[in-house]
Amino acid sequence: MDHFAYKDGVLHAENVPMSTIADAVGTPVYVYSRATLERHARVFREALDAVPRKHIAFAIKANPNLAVLRVLAREGYGADIVSGGEMQRALAAGMPAQDIVFSGVGKTRAELAAALEAGIGQFNIELEEEGVVLAQIAQEMGRTADAVLRVNPDVDAGTHAKISTGMKENKFGVPIDQAGWIFARLATLPGLAMRGIAIHIGSQLFDLAPLEAAYGKIGALMRDLRAAGHVIDRVDLGGGLGVPYERDKIPPSPADYGAMVARATKDWDATLYFEPGRVIVGNAGVLLTRVIWVKPGVIRPYVIVDAAMNDLARPAMYDAWHDFEAVAPTGEHFVANIAGPVCESGDTFAMARDIDLVKAGDLAVFRTAGAYGATMASTYNSRPLVPEVMVDGDRFAVVADRIMPEAIIAAERMPDFLQD
Ligand SMILES: *Cc1c(COP(=O)(O)O)cnc(C)c1O
Repeated sequence: MDHFAYKDGVLHAENVPMSTIADAVGTPVYVYSRATLERHARVFREALDAVPRKHIAFAIKANPNLAVLRVLAREGYGADIVSGGEMQRALAAGMPAQDIVFSGVGKTRAELAAALEAGIGQFNIELEEEGVVLAQIAQEMGRTADAVLRVNPDVDAGTHAKISTGMKENKFGVPIDQAGWIFARLATLPGLAMRGIAIHIGSQLFDLAPLEAAYGKIGALMRDLRAAGHVIDRVDLGGGLGVPYERDKIPPSPADYGAMVARATKDWDATLYFEPGRVIVGNAGVLLTRVIWVKPGVIRPYVIVDAAMNDLARPAMYDAWHDFEAVAPTGEHFVANIAGPVCESGDTFAMARDIDLVKAGDLAVFRTAGAYGATMASTYNSRPLVPEVMVDGDRFAVVADRIMPEAIIAAERMPDFLQD
């Protein structure tokens, strides 16, 4: 459930009409609903009520906006980060360092050192050598790194190839059949406190069966490691729960997921870590856009909007679907293609879609754009960087500026040899 709804025929975010935001900030613009973020954070946590010890670390790559992170920090969420920059954001938003989990297959030595310096709560080690280097750096700094070993369970998450991470050919984690000896070696290293194991098999999962299979495999590994004398007090179950991008395609609910987790992890006697991203923020955001033209096409019309693939990359990158709705629908529909102004045929949001009838100048939204939306935006075609707004009841605020070409050009330099 989200707080984007029609009132008197006009789409609102909570109590603010989209047209008010468009007038004040211009378009395109991402619009987030604080109440929706809070609701999703609570629903996800409540779904895990049966898990006695847990830590929820929001995967901030899904939406790293500081205001979004502040809302989630106040809900008791920590952060799952994948870069030094994300760590800076989590800390700047007020998340305690202890609540931060550092994932990612290519952490640099500088990032590992900075994270140790900040005192983050957990390193998710992706390969043996990373553990060795982390131990060395920690020892040099006179610290101990709390760490878990990320395991690749070799299960097919049944999702899009570009967001599948748990098959043996994927770059993530150590092969599960090698995890025993790698863990044993890392556990001997001073500077490293090996606390447990981690998995994350993919994103936008619509089927709980692969997750349950992966949890079964990691549970068996946990028992083997304990039998070998290791203390396993944390198991990180990753993220991945899907969201409904299309109205009639409904993913498992957080409650379904929580029930599966409770069943699969009964008697584990470990603190469970969760790294949800998309499920928390996806439906808490929309991309508000204005129709520039409705161009007659050879087969059907093209609705050319002022948002483009540089603002919302998911359709071009993953063939993703985003529902498109007029802000003030007339009730009439037509079948059209929807595209942006960027000079790429890939800058197409939908083909042959039955949508609200719109004309030049009308406002519309792409739904479910809160996850992997603004954070993937670029300035391709020298377009401004898309801004972000957060709504809170009757109020709203710009939470990320529109960065204009002037500012981007000002960061470029003419070399001496081209000055004359
Ligand atoms: C991307 C990612 C997540 C979040 O995935 P969602 O599908 O957004 O829930 C969690 N953990 C890791 C390690 C990730 O890379």
